[in-house]
This record gives sequence, C-alpha cells and structure tokens, in this order.
Amino acid sequence: MADSYLRQVRKWVVPGGLVVLGAVVGVRLAKDPQTLTGLARGYPYAVFGAAALLAWRFHRSRVLAAVLALAVVEWLLRLDPGPTAQIARTASTLLLPPILASLALTHDRGVLTTRGLTQLAMVLVPTPAVALLLRSQGAALAVTQQGELIGPASSVWAAIPDPELLVFAVSITVAAAVAVYRKRTVENGFLWAVVAACLALTAASGSPVSTVYLMAGGLVLGLSVMETGYRMAYRDELTGLPSRRALPDALVALRNRFSIAMVDIDHFKKFNDKHGHDIGDQVLRMVAAKLGRVTGGGRAYRYGGEEFAVVFPGKSRDEVMSDLEELRGTIEDSTFTVRGRLRPRGKPKNGKRKSPGKKNLTVTVSIGVAERNGRHTTPDKVLKAADKALYRAKRAGRNRVST
Ligand code: GH3
Ligand code: MG
Ligand code: MG
Repeated sequence: MADSYLRQVRKWVVPGGLVVLGAVVGVRLAKDPQTLTGLARGYPYAVFGAAALLAWRFHRSRVLAAVLALAVVEWLLRLDPGPTAQIARTASTLLLPPILASLALTHDRGVLTTRGLTQLAMVLVPTPAVALLLRSQGAALAVTQQGELIGPASSVWAAIPDPELLVFAVSITVAAAVAVYRKRTVENGFLWAVVAACLALTAASGSPVSTVYLMAGGLVLGLSVMETGYRMAYRDELTGLPSRRALPDALVALRNRFSIAMVDIDHFKKFNDKHGHDIGDQVLRMVAAKLGRVTGGGRAYRYGGEEFAVVFPGKSRDEVMSDLEELRGTIEDSTFTVRGRLRPRGKPKNGKRKSPGKKNLTVTVSIGVAERNGRHTTPDKVLKAADKALYRAKRAGRNRVST
C-alpha cells in the first residue's frame, strides 16, 4: 500500500519536480546577485547534465561519453588565463573533434558495461592527460601561439599551416561519412556535435561564444536521443512505416471526408511455413515499401503482423478505388528476390554465383475500403467497416479490393 503510494509520488515528482526544486533551492541559497550570476554560469553544465541523463536512461553510452567530453572541454576552456589554460585549449582543439568523430564510428553499449565504461575512459582521460603531459614536459613555451603544438621539427606538419584545421576537416568528414552511411538520428547528432565543437574551438579564448557552441553540441546530442526514442515508439522497426501507435494521431486529425483501407497479405501463414520466417520478414518489408508509395495521398501504417492500414484524408471511397487497385496490382506483379539462409559466403570459384539461396517469390494482398458517411461517422467506425470489407475480399477469393 505504502509502496504503491510511494511509486505514485515518484512518478509525479521524478525528474521534473526534482529539477524545479533544485532550481528553487539554488535561487534561495544564492542570496546576493553575484552568487546568482555564478550559479547561472552553471547553466551549460545543466544542459550537459540533462543530455547525460537522457543518454544514461536510453543506454546510449556513446552519447554519454560525448556529452561528458564536452563538459570537460567547457571546464578546460574556462581555466584562468595562463600557460596551463593555453595548453588545455590546444589539447582540447586537437582532441575533442577526433574523439567525437571516433565515438560516432563506434556503437552504443549499456553504460555500466565493460565496453561502455571503456568508451567513457577513452573520452575522459586523454584531454586532461595530454594537457598535464604537455605541462610537465615544459612545453608551455612552445605553445604560446595556437597551432604550434607540433613544433617546427616535423617538416610534414610544418607544411600544414593550420594543424587544427586539418583535424577539424578530418573529424567532420568522418562524422559526415558515418551519418550518411548509417542514416541514423544519433549519428546525425554526432555530425552536428562535431561541427559545434569545431566552432567552439575556433572562438577567441575566454569568449562565451565557445560555451554557447559546446552547449549547442550537448543539446543536439540530447535531442538525438529523444528523437530516437520517439522513432522507436512511432515507427515500425521491421518495415520503417509508421506503427499502429501513430495511427490515433492521424485519425483525430481527419476532417469530414476521408477513407481508410485495410490491407492484408494473403495466406501469409502458409508462406512463412514454406519459406521460413526470415524470408517472410523480407517480403513483408518489400510489400511495406510498395504501401509506402501508395498514390492518392494515402499514408500507410503497419497495423499489426501482416496487416496494414492506409488513411486517405479528404478522399471518398470512389476516389481511392483506382489507387488501391493499382497498389494491389503492383504487389501482385512484383517478384520479390530474397536471399535464403543457406546463402554461401564469399565469391564462388568460377566467378559466377549460382545463387542457390536466391528465390523469386510472389505474394498477393486483399484490401477492404470504407469511407466516412452517415452510417460510419467516426474514424473508428470507418476502420471497422474497412476491416469487414477486407474479410469480404478474403471470402470472395483474395487478391482483390472490396467495399
Ligand atoms: P489470410 O489470407 O486469410 O490472411 O491468411 P493468413 O495466413 O495470411 O492469415 P493469418 O492471420 O492466419 O496468419 C497471419 C500470419 O502472418 C501469421 C504469421 O505467421 C504471419 N506474420 C505476422 N507477422 C509477421 C511478421 O512480422 N513476420 C513474418 N515473417 N510473419 C508474420
Ligand atoms: Mg493474411
Ligand atoms: Mg492477418
């Protein structure tokens, strides 16, 4: 009883209430304006903290490591002016963008796993360590001017006017390549975080501009974690179509006139039994790709299993019949080339693959469609009517559109 009460309280208070409470306590404790200004200087760390918490909750070890790296650099750039600050700045300039780019190259692990902790160590140790090393070797004098870290001894480096520009260019290129290749939100976040880091490190020393850019980097990473969470909830992972959870939002947005179609693959159980579940999945993905390109302004959702809903805002049933007929025909006429599980690895000796695992398969779909009218007045009723029409299509012999 007490337990469930406590859980209720926690649900309401964590984390929003705690954050606001922390702010109230901070403001109360900091009575004079100067302390308050000092507290406001903690703002970037609040942004980093929030992004780090998000990364932690969503098991994004890379993002956590990256955000902590940004926080360390923010701290290093705020050191009191002097040789140490100069070294810290040079070390940050040469290390932060490559660290972020290499994190983009790796994969997320759980935070409290060996790999997750290794990622953290890889990020947190180098910058202060290099700064200390430079300092202990009395390199302070060599770094009086930015970009002279490498020194004149190496002719290769001397030929490059700006080592940091090279570091920036390589880091941004690597992060951009990863983002383009993997096409994922977090990788995209990493690309912009690298850009933000480079901008932060080109700002004049001691200027608040670098803080603004580092904060932007932290924000971008935090948002990418949130965006991924959103996608996980509203996108179907197998097909890439919006999932059933996204359907209610689309339905409440519908106005007076609309139609809904329910699409179901014919005899898919038999198909799975014959070819295996993995091949079933591949075909499901290809059918979904056709559904994603349905004409007539329709938007397809994976409703469940091998069933899809297509919503046509502003269209009557008669207006979408030809689009649905075209969709049905396209699927019927498509040969889906799938790769079997027994596909041999590597190239065969004669250079030609006999492709023993390759199969050309076909499937058909049945479609039921209904529109909003005097009888079916709400989206839910229209959807149910479309479902009934679908079963009429099944009973009438499948591979057809029924009303
Ligand atoms: P009908 O023509 O009447 O629709 O027959 P059916 O076999 O397609 O219908 P039924 O509802 O009996 O079976 C649906 C099958 O779809 C069951 C399941 O094996 C398959 N299925 C559902 N979801 C998935 C999935 O995500 N991947 C694969 N491979 N198969 C799935
Ligand atoms: Mg079916
Ligand atoms: Mg079904």
